[in-house]
Amino acid sequence: MKVLDTQFCNGFATMANDSWNLGYHERNGGNFSYRLTDEEVDSVRDDLNFDRPFAEIGTEVPDLAGMFFMFTGSGKFIRWVKEKTAETCCIIEIDETGTKYRIVWGLTEGGRPTSELPTHLMNHQVKMRKTNGAHRVIFHCHPTNVIAMTFVVPLTDAEITRALWESMTECPVIFPDGVGVIPWMSCGGRAIAVETAKKMEHYDAVVWAHHGLFCSADNFDNAIGFAHCVEKSADIYMKVRAVTDHKLQTITKENFLELAKDFGLTINEAFLN
Ligand SMILES: [Zn+2]
Repeated sequence: MKVLDTQFCNGFATMANDSWNLGYHERNGGNFSYRLTDEEVDSVRDDLNFDRPFAEIGTEVPDLAGMFFMFTGSGKFIRWVKEKTAETCCIIEIDETGTKYRIVWGLTEGGRPTSELPTHLMNHQVKMRKTNGAHRVIFHCHPTNVIAMTFVVPLTDAEITRALWESMTECPVIFPDGVGVIPWMSCGGRAIAVETAKKMEHYDAVVWAHHGLFCSADNFDNAIGFAHCVEKSADIYMKVRAVTDHKLQTITKENFLELAKDFGLTINEAFLN
C-alpha cells in the first residue's frame, strides 16, 4: 500500500489542514508527529526506502528503538501538508540504540524532520509508557492566546491551569490533570526536550512560555481538539483580562468539586487552592 493512501497519512494531513485553518501556524511554525502501529508499518513497507543513512537524534529514546514515526519537516509550512504531504512530511525509523534515525519515506524535495525532533520523541517515550501505548500523537502549535497568557499569568502549572479551568466549564472535564508550563527556553534542542518530557509525566499538555503549546493524545482528533480547547479557554481568559482585572463572578472551587463528582473525574485538587 502507498503511504499516501493510508488512513494514518490522511488523518495526519487533515489534522494539519484543520490546525492551519485555525490560525495556529504562521509561516513554518508548529510541528506534529505520529507513532505508527506495527500493522501500519507492515502495510506500507513496500513504499519505504531504507537506503538513507542514520543521523543523530540529539537525545536518547531507547524505548522507541525500531519504531516508525510520521513527522512534519523542518522549515516546512503546515499550510502545505495536506496538498503536498510527501514534500513536507516524512516517516522515520529509529535505530536499535534509540539515538539515531533515518528517513524512510517523504521529504521528496530534501530536508529533515522538525528541529523539535528531540522533544517529540522524548514526549512519545514518556506518553507511551504512561498510557500503556495508547498515546500516538504529539502536536505542537503557536496559538495566539495561549502565548499571550504567558505574559500576564505567573508561570506555574497551578496558575496557568486554574486560569484555563476557570475560563470555560468543560476544561476540567477535558484535562482534569491540568497543564504543565515551562519558562522561556531556547527551542530545538535537548534541554527543552528534557524539561517538556518531565512535565509530560504529569500532564497531556505543556505550555512553552512565550512560544506555544504541546499536546499528547491517542488520535489526531483528540490532539487538535485538545489544543483547540486550551486555546479557546485562553482566548476567553484574555478577553476578560483585557476588559478588567477584577472578575465579578467565576467558577468556584465548590463548582469544580461538583463538576468532578457529576462527571466522575479525578480532578487535580492541588490546583483548586
Ligand atoms: Zn514552535
